[in-house]
Amino acid sequence: MTRYASLLSLLALAACTAATVATTDRGSTSVSVDRIASDIRTVSSDAFLGRAPATRGEELTTVYIRDRLIAAGVQPGGPNGSWFQEVPLSQSDIVGTPSLSITVNGQTTPLQQGEQIAIRASMLDVDRVDLQNAPLVFLGYGVRAPERSWDDFKGENMRGKVGVVLINDPDFETGQGDFGGKAMTYYGRWTYKYEEGARQGLAGVLVVHETAPASYGWATVKNSNTNTMFDIVRANPAEVHPLVEGWIQRDEAVRIFNAAGQDFDALKRRAQTREFRPVPLGNATFSASYQVRRQSIRSKNILGRLAGTTHPDETILYGAHWDHLGIGAPDARGDSVYNGAVDNGTGIAAVLELSRIFAAGPRPQRSIVFAFWAAEEKGLLGSEYYASNPVYPLEKTVAGFNIDALSPTGRARDVSVVGSGQTDIEDRLQVVLAANNRTMTPDASPEAGYFFRSDHFPMAKRGVPMLYMDSGIDLLTGGTAAGNAFDQAYRRDAYHQPADEYNPATWNLAGIAEDVGVLHQLGMQLANSREWPNYRTTSEFRPVRDKSVSTRR
Ligand SMILES: [Zn+2]
Repeated sequence: MTRYASLLSLLALAACTAATVATTDRGSTSVSVDRIASDIRTVSSDAFLGRAPATRGEELTTVYIRDRLIAAGVQPGGPNGSWFQEVPLSQSDIVGTPSLSITVNGQTTPLQQGEQIAIRASMLDVDRVDLQNAPLVFLGYGVRAPERSWDDFKGENMRGKVGVVLINDPDFETGQGDFGGKAMTYYGRWTYKYEEGARQGLAGVLVVHETAPASYGWATVKNSNTNTMFDIVRANPAEVHPLVEGWIQRDEAVRIFNAAGQDFDALKRRAQTREFRPVPLGNATFSASYQVRRQSIRSKNILGRLAGTTHPDETILYGAHWDHLGIGAPDARGDSVYNGAVDNGTGIAAVLELSRIFAAGPRPQRSIVFAFWAAEEKGLLGSEYYASNPVYPLEKTVAGFNIDALSPTGRARDVSVVGSGQTDIEDRLQVVLAANNRTMTPDASPEAGYFFRSDHFPMAKRGVPMLYMDSGIDLLTGGTAAGNAFDQAYRRDAYHQPADEYNPATWNLAGIAEDVGVLHQLGMQLANSREWPNYRTTSEFRPVRDKSVSTRR
């Protein structure tokens, strides 16, 4: 199709996506504000108990979503004709207080869990960790990026050692270089540092905490690393996890470097260059000893599907996580239900609405899959499980759309794209937006790496072109001032708190309905084309996508 022809069909589609009210689940191809409101209100009600995995809240939520998919006229999309993909999870806790210490020049200094150091309960299949006097080696940013001709390891043998690495990527501080300047590439994320450490055979990886490049303070590190750890059940967890994973305070790291006769700041500057090679920290060693309690729990992804007419083996994927935090500590009002209305009742409702309008319209050439991911709040685990055990081949997944926490702020002139600059899906998005007299706003804080922190990412990491579109901030009523004010108030007063609740008095869902319309048009266009979107040549995910290019025609 020429661009002109596709623009005409987009305009035709745009004409029929004005938000109108539909009274039944089936039959209407228009986006319905009322159906979206009803789904959000239901899944975020107290009756759903905050939708925590492996609880009664999971049972209620997954049955509700399945029933809405059946009512929409969508077919089961899970393995063996089922609606569900079982997601086995493992849960690990450190029993008691771990014994942790550093020895330099014969002098042993104990480290206090949560204070100078934060060690995560081991994700390996072990019930005890006993690491005695493992040599410490400074590994710069701990990055191996062949497409950028960058290798901090230089092929040296890392077996049995504990690597000390810096957070963010090598050009964060200088602001320019091969890693997107201030913007964070995946090489800057702590999850990457541990994964690469495992590939290198390290016994442990300690990430040095510095507030600016991490984008959060030590309190966040302490809170999210010293409690229960979750992972999907993996055939070989050592492929992605070293035995010991943790963070160390900058001041403590500086002390160790000094005692080992090294200068932290000088070594950091060297680490910002390609010439960097691993630096043994004198005779410094690290020891850790603690017991691990392991348990398995089960959760599930929900999958619905509409088979394509001519290319059913090629998939457009829409996904949103269904889980939230469950019942927890009460807030000042005494409310202990973490309803998760915005996060991610809005996403559940948006994907359900997409399933209804796709099912009601003419069937596209490629298949459409509607996914509701488990355990996002525990570390993107449902989507990670799907990406490790894909029901539909990832090489032939044309594109995916992630919806996580849309704003009930009414119509906006724009949409935001988290992690903008990654894929050329954005170019197509801009054509659709232009046809609707709207615009795209790039990621407002690319240095924080939000692209690596929601459910599209497990697929993105494996090369599937993924778009994480979020609500716009330039509101028709009140402009960017009103959009930003809502964002700030939500982060402060409701995000991950019992107050993230549906409020019919203040909410306006017309903007969400319009965004659903945009995602529908974009997916429909791709589903009726022979196009294969891709990562841009500057993206760290382009090489992995290109490896499977011969499977796509
Ligand atoms: Zn979320």
